[in-house]
Amino acid sequence: MRDNEPVSLYRDEAIVLRTQKLGEADRIVTVLSHRHGRIRAVAKGVRRTTSRWGARLEPFTHVDLQLAEGRSLHVVTQAETREPLGATIGADYPSYTAGTAMLEAADRLSGEDLEPAVQQYLLLIGGLRVLAAGERDPSLVLDAFLLRSLSVAGYAPSFEECARCGAPGPHRWFSAPAGGMACSSCRQPGSASPSPETVRLLSALLTGDWTTAAASDARSRRESAGLVAAYLQWHLERGLRSLSHVDR
Ligand SMILES: [Zn+2]
Repeated sequence: MRDNEPVSLYRDEAIVLRTQKLGEADRIVTVLSHRHGRIRAVAKGVRRTTSRWGARLEPFTHVDLQLAEGRSLHVVTQAETREPLGATIGADYPSYTAGTAMLEAADRLSGEDLEPAVQQYLLLIGGLRVLAAGERDPSLVLDAFLLRSLSVAGYAPSFEECARCGAPGPHRWFSAPAGGMACSSCRQPGSASPSPETVRLLSALLTGDWTTAAASDARSRRESAGLVAAYLQWHLERGLRSLSHVDR
């Protein structure tokens, strides 16, 4: 961009998803914003020890940004912290690993850069606030987020009616390619047969029924986490790298 070209500035609030090094002192920051979807922008001088950015452009931070449009990458011109969610989430390892998987999922499920993704943004900020509050099992918070984020992206699973023919449930067979639980006639080869408690937990996580979810036992939580991971893997070309660090 030449100096005499007018620069178009805009503001938005966002969650920092990840950062990568660029040259000696700069970083490329990927954020999910409220109104502009995912944005990749250069933060200049962020790696210098005297940087004015501080921790404002670290993953998990909820920031107010001012950006300048660039030809390929946008440029961060101002950043103010709204909520330092990384400080609380980072202090607890299970919350940190669950939160990291949420950031990666949001990055992968938010569509193209600059394509509005308001629901994904609201799900992410809501999920991170719950994690930071530390009152719910991080693994359940993660699975609830993944199921709802997949739904917003157009991959809503069905845990009650048969995902293929709509026959009323409960059903016995789970298959990611089928889209969730399937009846005996629609059962796919290689289907899993989760326990009824696990299916109830999955349904509760999808609908936000935390009373049922909190009452679930460890075995159902492990089983449902495996099915959520399988479902996610089926809908994304590559699985989430950070999911393997979540202890369960
Ligand atoms: Zn069916």
